[in-house]
Amino acid sequence: MYDIDATHDPKRTSWVESANAAGSDFPIQNLPFGRFRRKGSGEAFRIGVAIGDQVLDLRAAGLVDTDDMNALMAAAPAGRRALRAKLSDGLAAGSTQQAAWAQALVPQADCEYTVPCRVGDYTDFYTGIHHATTIGKLFRPDQPLMPNYKWVPIGYHGRASSIVVSGTPFKRPQGQTKAPDAAEPSFGPCKRLDYELELGFYVGQGNALGQPVGIDDAEAHLFGVGLFNDWSARDLQAWEYQPLGPFLAKNFASTVSPWIVTMEALAPFRAPFTRPAGDPQPLPYLDGAANREGGQLDITLEVLVQTAKMREQGEAPARLTHGLVKEAAYWTAAQLLAHHTVNGCNLQPGDLLGSGTLSGPTPDAAGSLMELTLGGKQPITLPGGEQRTFLQDGDTLVLRGWCERAGAVRIGFGEASGTVLA
Ligand code: MN
Repeated sequence: MYDIDATHDPKRTSWVESANAAGSDFPIQNLPFGRFRRKGSGEAFRIGVAIGDQVLDLRAAGLVDTDDMNALMAAAPAGRRALRAKLSDGLAAGSTQQAAWAQALVPQADCEYTVPCRVGDYTDFYTGIHHATTIGKLFRPDQPLMPNYKWVPIGYHGRASSIVVSGTPFKRPQGQTKAPDAAEPSFGPCKRLDYELELGFYVGQGNALGQPVGIDDAEAHLFGVGLFNDWSARDLQAWEYQPLGPFLAKNFASTVSPWIVTMEALAPFRAPFTRPAGDPQPLPYLDGAANREGGQLDITLEVLVQTAKMREQGEAPARLTHGLVKEAAYWTAAQLLAHHTVNGCNLQPGDLLGSGTLSGPTPDAAGSLMELTLGGKQPITLPGGEQRTFLQDGDTLVLRGWCERAGAVRIGFGEASGTVLA
């Protein structure tokens, strides 16, 4: 589990010079996968790997003979590790592949992307315990955390068709809302549009219907991780969510980053899974030695906002959220996958598991406006003086993430951005 090998060697550099720059999201130790094409070309999307400020076209480099990311994701871990080793060796400084592979590079500035794989099914979990507690207080002051929360990884089945790649604008949704003091609901544009800072876990190898995946095997079924913004219409949500959970408040758009950072790339950035004293320990099917030792991910996340006015005036985006995944997530990715399949439910390559909003324990680590503004009661003031309770038309939100640790080279996730249209 979490094996460190030559592909993680901090001394390894690339002949793609931009990959060696300090602070690059895509050094040779990362090698995330996405689907790209030349901007405006209208060609079919192809599988690429980000390296520095370039994309390596895997088919042009002779590494795959398909454009089907899902087929690549379905490979067993040994196959994935072999491809990673080939990529790392070929991109390493001094490689004999340099002359040939240099022809297969496309500058990222010339690329456009799509959702990195075909997402057949999408499930959103609720692993952020600080988020669940704060939101719970707003919706149900008497009982913020439901009695099942510390026993069951809570989730709901989302909708895959409205998942979009970073950079895709979306329209403010319309729907039914009902003010607490109103006798009847009304219809109109959402007034409480929010973001949710999440990670998306992509399933690699699937499992057959009726065949649960045990906790110790769960990570072998995960391909990798991307950034995920689960845009949420809080006023629609409040009126519709009982008794069956979120519906139209969530399925009008969800934004993913173009790149999937593989589980192999994350091996140096694992952290122990622990439970606070006094909390129940997970049931045996959600507990395993490897999960305890390194089930958590040491990832830093941040969210930035740029309003239309800031964009016009050339002001840089302002930070809304900054926090650590391991301080936010009550359940690990392995636990989510083991729980999802324990009843025999079959997952397929490319399925997406949302982490739920990853709010840390402190106010600056709150992963949604609902929390930052206490349900819209306390506006936040941006550096230029503008105020926000919820998102306004023209606002652009940017999610970023990275891993940093002594003895390892920093890797990043790129970004997941989206702009609200009227
Ligand atoms: Mn969510």
